[in-house]
Amino acid sequence: MAKMFYNEDADLNLLKGKKIAIIGYGSQGHAHALNLKDSGLDVVVGLYEKSKSRERAETAGLKVMSVEDAAEAANVIMMLIPDEKQSKVYKESIEKHLKEGDALAFAHGFNIHFHQIVPPKYVDVFMVAPKGPGHLVRRVYEEGKGVPDLVAVYQNFTGKAFDTALAYAKGIGGTRAGVIETTFKEETETDLFGEQAVLCGGVTELMKAGFETLVEAGYQPEIAYFECINEMKLIIDLIYEGGFSKMRYSISDTAEFGDYVTGKRIITEETRKEMKNVLSEIQNGEFAKKWLLENQVGRPSFNAIREREANSKVEQVGNHLRSMMAWLKKD
Ligand code: NDP
Ligand code: MG
Ligand code: MG
Repeated sequence: MAKMFYNEDADLNLLKGKKIAIIGYGSQGHAHALNLKDSGLDVVVGLYEKSKSRERAETAGLKVMSVEDAAEAANVIMMLIPDEKQSKVYKESIEKHLKEGDALAFAHGFNIHFHQIVPPKYVDVFMVAPKGPGHLVRRVYEEGKGVPDLVAVYQNFTGKAFDTALAYAKGIGGTRAGVIETTFKEETETDLFGEQAVLCGGVTELMKAGFETLVEAGYQPEIAYFECINEMKLIIDLIYEGGFSKMRYSISDTAEFGDYVTGKRIITEETRKEMKNVLSEIQNGEFAKKWLLENQVGRPSFNAIREREANSKVEQVGNHLRSMMAWLKKD
């Protein structure tokens, strides 16, 4: 079993008297900045001149500086801008402001693990990665709860990198829920694999394939949507609450029998083999290279696929049906 760390294992005093720069004020950035500030720590936000986020950060009572000034002023610099932009911003505005004993921190291991950012030897490098979206990191903190964090140390110059990372996790509320120690390698590879093979790529393609199979066979698209897309959340909620057994307890025995005999015909040996290939391409850096090159040339494939997906039949049917569900927030 993984060793877990909770509030009593972490000492916020390690960050008292230090200045923490949060670079970026998006999903994770706003949550880290506000939670750390509410935990009594000294926070500044680093943003570029014309950033759309600037006003929101200032309205929330935070001090906003340029990325350069924030990096210069701070002892702990947390990188919370999009992963594909980090290495350029690091090289241009952060590297030269790192002083001996400073800490450079991340919420995802991508840039360190794939050597897009190579920090000097005289700083600590750690990761505090919340296992949840930024907006929840903020919301549950305000409710006195927390989102669990993964914590890792890549470079321990001061000898206190792990304890500083734990203190940071406490500051954003993570030690209320539990913190697990990992490595940059493990976090990066498992995170990329999970989102590609299961959570995002795997799930959406499975739902779309089911929806299209029914529609092509002549069934009403709205029925196909309710069956293959909408009901997914209800099933996942049961799994989240009580594992596969709670879900199987709640569904009919007919559904449970179908689950057992059909699941393996869908996720076949071939699918499992392909999952291993996906994992290898993550491990050997092929995926990272593809994504970095895609960004360098202005995201042609990404933009084309994004548009095609947004206009797909399953999305059109879903948009219509969801517009009738008054309780779904529109934003
Ligand atoms: P977002 O896309 O939400 O954040 C973007 C923020 O960065 C905005 O405030 C944006 O400003 C600012 N920004 C963009 N470019 C620059 C720049 N050149 N200089 C300064 N600021 C800039 O990022 P996320 O919060 O999604 O991701 C941040 C990190 O957290 C990533 O490493 C990600 O992997 C990790 N992470 C994210 C999770 C999530 O919930 N999204 C979960 C766990 C980890 P503007 O508003 O002007 O565009
Ligand atoms: Mg990810
Ligand atoms: Mg059914």
